Amino acid sequence: MTAPPSPQPTILIVEDDASIRDYLALGFGYEGFRVLHAASGSQALELFWREQPGVVVLDVGLPGLDGFAVLRAIRERSQVPAIMLTARDGVDDRIHGLQLGADDYLVKPFHFGELVARVQAILRRSQPEQGRALWYADLSLDTHLREATRGGRQLDLTPRATDLLAVLLRHPERALSKALLLDSVWGPEFMGDDNIVEVYVRQLRRALGEPELIQTVRGAGYALRLRA
Ligand code: CA
Repeated sequence: MTAPPSPQPTILIVEDDASIRDYLALGFGYEGFRVLHAASGSQALELFWREQPGVVVLDVGLPGLDGFAVLRAIRERSQVPAIMLTARDGVDDRIHGLQLGADDYLVKPFHFGELVARVQAILRRSQPEQGRALWYADLSLDTHLREATRGGRQLDLTPRATDLLAVLLRHPERALSKALLLDSVWGPEFMGDDNIVEVYVRQLRRALGEPELIQTVRGAGYALRLRA
């Protein structure tokens, strides 16, 4: 059986020049992407947190919050693939963008075909995370299929519990604070109490069974580790 072709991800295009923005939105739409677009930095961030796009194309020269400021804000919480568009051919701009965590940049004017190729390339580079098995001891999670097993036994987990397990598996044996877990799993816009973390840790512990794999580290949070 062959897997169905994976759909193109959602792309966020941030560009204040309406003609370029419309042109890119149309072009990426033709390429099969779901397209979101923003004309300002603040609009871009609002859309970003709400829609969680799979890739971002970001113009440097924006009124108000510029492309660098937008990227900096995104990078505080997300490793989404990002490509910067710069009108200036200045080496400083490119270095600055890459230092802030841009995956690539393109100098205007550029060819649409080149931008699509660059976007596909950074998406391919960011793929290994997808479909990768995370594991610790006899516990494993396929992050693509979102299936977890312990000792070969399939675990019945809610989507949030699966997300929480993924975060713990990405940082095995390290104590992770409740604040960090809350932020990673429920997102920065979550308004509720961090007691939700305890509720889900309890749920996860019940599902994982014995021997205990999620340890409470006093004053520091929780750690995925086998007790020594
Ligand atoms: Ca611009």
